[in-house]
Amino acid sequence: MNLTGWGRYPRIQSQGFFLKTPEGLRDFLREPGDCIVHGMGGSYGDSALNARVILSRRYNKILNFDPRAGVVRCQAGITLSDLIQVFLPRGWLPAAMPGTRLITLGGAIAADVHGKNHHQAGCFSEGLISLELMLPGGQVVECGRELNRELFLATCGGMGLTGIILTAALRLQPVKSAWIRETVIRSQNLKEAFLLFDENQDAAYSVAWIDCLAKGDSLGRSVFRLGDHADSGGLDLPFRKPVRVPFTFPGFLLNRHSISWFNHLFYKKNNKSSAPVEDRPVPLGDFFFPLDRLANWNRLYGRPGLTQYHLVLPKEAGLAGITAIIKKTAAAGLGPFLGVLKLFGPGNDNYLSFPLEGYTLALDFKIQTGLFSLLDELDRIVIEHGGRLYLAKDVRMPREVFQKGYPRWELFAELREKLGLRQKFNSLQSTRLGV
Ligand SMILES: Cc1cc2nc3c(=O)[nH]c(=O)nc-3n(C[C@H](O)[C@H](O)[C@H](O)COP(=O)(O)OP(=O)(O)OC[C@H]3O[C@@H](n4cnc5c(N)ncnc54)[C@H](O)[C@@H]3O)c2cc1C
Repeated sequence: MNLTGWGRYPRIQSQGFFLKTPEGLRDFLREPGDCIVHGMGGSYGDSALNARVILSRRYNKILNFDPRAGVVRCQAGITLSDLIQVFLPRGWLPAAMPGTRLITLGGAIAADVHGKNHHQAGCFSEGLISLELMLPGGQVVECGRELNRELFLATCGGMGLTGIILTAALRLQPVKSAWIRETVIRSQNLKEAFLLFDENQDAAYSVAWIDCLAKGDSLGRSVFRLGDHADSGGLDLPFRKPVRVPFTFPGFLLNRHSISWFNHLFYKKNNKSSAPVEDRPVPLGDFFFPLDRLANWNRLYGRPGLTQYHLVLPKEAGLAGITAIIKKTAAAGLGPFLGVLKLFGPGNDNYLSFPLEGYTLALDFKIQTGLFSLLDELDRIVIEHGGRLYLAKDVRMPREVFQKGYPRWELFAELREKLGLRQKFNSLQSTRLGV
């Protein structure tokens, strides 16, 4: 089969094994060769790519639910979308949700994903009670914060490199409504956007969409969105049917002029005056997953595909570092189409989880000549400012940038060595990063 991540770059020929039972998986692991789990392929780059992949999507049952504690145990191939559709009408929701619901539970754990509420709720692993992991020899180990702690810390954020997550028990948060009360504010520049994040830390959710092409006094102008769960409006609200991008667009349609025009329109449309839109009710799906409304939007980037450069910088270095990154990017004229800025709360103890306390910026670029040299220059700014890049979005990070950004990488590598994981579980990404 032809396989890619969400960015549709790179493409590889891969042999797929469908996970249906632990027994079948054990037999597959006995065969020679290494492999990696591929969930929904929602990671942008090469972290779920190998010449042999374990396809987990059909391993997707809900096993039990404790309504007093709000704890659900499921097989790891269930999607976030299915979980929400089953539990939202009952008044429950995962506490940390990324910008798409089209990911598996296993993928959410392996990337230790974060949402617009990281400053309050932390990463996905914060809600995790325990998980079952299959190791290279086929043995299944249960891990949690106390039981097999080392393996738990390595698996949450460990990008599938510690074994196959079979099941997980997750604590959900109670909610009263399927609606979000949203406030939209337009900020004139980056400094103002940072101030808005700081002033609005009481809001459960916050995110800013940045126009990365604006310059001078308007550098970093953005549309800033705040959200809190509504108390009314009901719990039964199905997701809207997405519009599909019917074919892969010619890559040339996405150029400096079309991007600049899009950003201008987006900024104007989202707030015609600088007065804030306050407290309007928005369906939860539209607030959390706006991109899912355009299915296969990755096709807009044409055949070469796209990558997302997703970085985090510590709080004190945030303004200087992100200003430098936006300036360099705008000067290079290679995009991006989207710039999304968020505030992170404190990081956790997991070996390779991405968040650290500070500001995070995600930039989407079409794969094109000159892009990777630009990203090498951005790497230098990120490292100089004490930051790191997100493994779930990466497709080209050099080894030294990974090692500097993730100081606990050696603990991770030692555990891989100790448990014989390097012989069995590898992705194109882990080989590139030497982990
Ligand atoms: C539109 C869009 C928006 C996004 N927004 C955000 C965001 O706001 N915040 C955020 O944190 N992320 C975000 N992401 C990234 C996405 O949440 C992660 O990449 C997630 O890991 C994808 O899950 P998946 O099931 O598609 O996994 P895949 O992409 O298939 O795999 C990702 C990694 O998880 C591993 N894995 C998957 N299942 C298992 C398993 N059962 N056992 C062991 N390892 C496993 C894979 O080996 C791989 O290393 C976004 C992605 C998209 C496409």
